[in-house]
Amino acid sequence: MASALRDRGVTDLAKYKFTNAERFAVYVVHGEVCYMCTKPIDLKTMEIDHIIPESLILDRPKLEETLTAFGLSLDFSLNSYENWLPACRSCNGKKGANVFAPTPLVQLQLTKASRRAAQARSLAKRTVKQAEITKALNILEKADESGELSDEVKLHLRAIGNLQEQEREPSRKNEPILLAPNFSIPAHEHSSYHRDELLKSETCGCFFCLRIFNSSEIVCWTDKLPNSEKGETALCPYCGIDSVIGSQSGYPMTHEFLEKMNDRWFGGIRDST
Ligand SMILES: [Zn+2]
Ligand SMILES: [Zn+2]
Repeated sequence: MASALRDRGVTDLAKYKFTNAERFAVYVVHGEVCYMCTKPIDLKTMEIDHIIPESLILDRPKLEETLTAFGLSLDFSLNSYENWLPACRSCNGKKGANVFAPTPLVQLQLTKASRRAAQARSLAKRTVKQAEITKALNILEKADESGELSDEVKLHLRAIGNLQEQEREPSRKNEPILLAPNFSIPAHEHSSYHRDELLKSETCGCFFCLRIFNSSEIVCWTDKLPNSEKGETALCPYCGIDSVIGSQSGYPMTHEFLEKMNDRWFGGIRDST
């Protein structure tokens, strides 16, 4: 019976389809790493592992026996934040092939999931309320994971990076935001905390006044880090707004690109002085 349940066909029948908001929440609250190998993973290819295997849904006696072994109530849902953790494909694939046994390690994993469950639930709720994020997560889901993403797609995906920057675990604050195997955003958005990136950039652009200039023209910086006198975020030498981006970001410093950024961040309101 147990071996029949691990049969691929039967398991697929019980497979829960995660929403993009659930995936994002599990990913962010658990520190953007695989819980098994602890390596950073990207949001697009991350998999959600069921700590207690989902296939047990089809074997009620075995499920009840397992829940009892862990001291969980019999109405514990296998498809809830209390039973979900983020994993990389490789670890999740290996785990799937193993026979499940209730061990102290599994108990620890359940504790880990349940400690963050409320936080994940709340983040998912806030995520679906933001149309821009919902759209960006859909775009990420459909995006090709190999090959180059278009600038248009990257622009949309920045919305996820922005939310993630506010919501991520303090330990991840200085790490790049890994959206897909072929696309990540360096820590701190390109228009803030980017002093080094801008100084290395040949050209810079302002997506408020749409001017393109040399980074040596920047004289005002804001956002000082602790124990530092230098500001990390540039103010545009022409309009004074902190909306400067540099060519080192990987984006094209063209009028067309700055216009798109402007639409995206300022809703098309431009400085015309
Ligand atoms: Zn892993
Ligand atoms: Zn400007």
